Amino acid sequence: MSQLQRLGGEACAYFQRGRCTRTQGPEASAEAKCAMLEARRKVGAQTLDRLERLKRLADPDDREVARRVVIQKNITAINRITCPGFVPARGDGPLCVHQHLVYCLLLLPQCQGRCEHYWRRRQETGTSRGRS
Ligand code: SF4
Ligand code: SF4
Repeated sequence: MSQLQRLGGEACAYFQRGRCTRTQGPEASAEAKCAMLEARRKVGAQTLDRLERLKRLADPDDREVARRVVIQKNITAINRITCPGFVPARGDGPLCVHQHLVYCLLLLPQCQGRCEHYWRRRQETGTSRGRS
């Protein structure tokens, strides 16, 4: 007896390079986030917090010196963050070729073919819907 085969999901709005970007739930979404972006975001938030606290310094020269130190530390910390799967992307878009919005495509499930959530991509406008 021949086996039924699913049609491919390539034309689905959720399809990105073989992965399904449809939101599966908060936990799965959190686990699929790009670790490098997340780490950078945390460093950035700490830096903003430190810069905010510098406003308490009364002397403007002290404030400026401290500001430069904080900025330099921020750059050093961000440059130290790496990811074993990182492949630099070209252009102004994402940092890594595996990045999709704030997610890592490598951590998203493979599209197993056209499923009940299949949503045909609108070709004429180029708009698509995915995780947000
Ligand atoms: S492989 Fe790329 S997208 Fe995935 S976590 Fe690493 S840097 Fe982020
Ligand atoms: S067809 Fe289904 S599994 Fe494939 S990308 Fe679309 S929603 Fe995801």
